[in-house]
Amino acid sequence: MSNLFKIPEMNFAIRDDDISYWTNPSDVESVYSGIWEKGVVVSFSVIPFAVRSFYLGERGKFYQDETLRAAGENGELVEYLRGKTAKGSASIILHGYSHQYKFAAAGKPGYFSLTKDNIEKHLKPMQVGKIIYLSEYRWKPYEQLKNETAKGKKHLEDTFGRKVDVFVPPGNDISRGGIKAVSECGLNVSGTMRIMKFNRKIDFYSMRNCALKLFWRLSCNRVYPCVMDYGSHRELCAYGLAKKTTLDELKKSFLFCFKKNAPFVLAVHHWELAKNPPMLEVFKRFLDFVFTFRDISFKDLESLYGG
Ligand SMILES: [Zn+2]
Repeated sequence: MSNLFKIPEMNFAIRDDDISYWTNPSDVESVYSGIWEKGVVVSFSVIPFAVRSFYLGERGKFYQDETLRAAGENGELVEYLRGKTAKGSASIILHGYSHQYKFAAAGKPGYFSLTKDNIEKHLKPMQVGKIIYLSEYRWKPYEQLKNETAKGKKHLEDTFGRKVDVFVPPGNDISRGGIKAVSECGLNVSGTMRIMKFNRKIDFYSMRNCALKLFWRLSCNRVYPCVMDYGSHRELCAYGLAKKTTLDELKKSFLFCFKKNAPFVLAVHHWELAKNPPMLEVFKRFLDFVFTFRDISFKDLESLYGG
């Protein structure tokens, strides 16, 4: 059949956040074994100089230390990911710099690092469960973010021997200065901010994208599903698989994108899937559903932004 009549393929990507020096490749493999051979590509969102996190995902228990370790120092991880990228099964994108959180304490000025000592010193036990985490690209100033984003990008490019051009904001939050720093480093952004959190530079692009988001929210109660051009960089939403996400919700979002011929990006955390069998089951059953569709093209996240 002539290509003229060929149905356009829907692009599908998986984004896996929080890969770092502290990642054990066997945890990653336990999630994706059996999936790689079906042609799926996983874009690993790597923290270049991560602090260590404890009790990840457990509000009230979660804390971090303050020592930064370079992803490139974990030889086993580097070898594992290089093997996957060489086969075309994976790609590398940038996830913050250290992924260090801070928090505010009532009646005390400034922000505190999320260490065990700081939590015990500055919060009463009843306040710990209600702690509000400030993510790295929210609390760091623009100059610091500009330097660290460039340094982190270079570290990943040197370590994995490939270009890095997509950024995932830690904690899905980023300030106006953060967006400026990231776009000045030549990176596109995965994940879009909520309309009420509008914090982009006011210009033609941001106004047009805000109107697009508003229109899609009001007309079909959905996030705008295609790539948004901001002039300096591009942004594309992702559909997260969290503890409360159901298989039905994922299927509905996927079918919506399929009908609109929009790309679909599934965002997961391998560490969460590896320790949570019901979530892993939703993940695998959703992929089984996706595999039943013809005309799906499994891509790395970077290639979904276009030229
Ligand atoms: Zn993260």
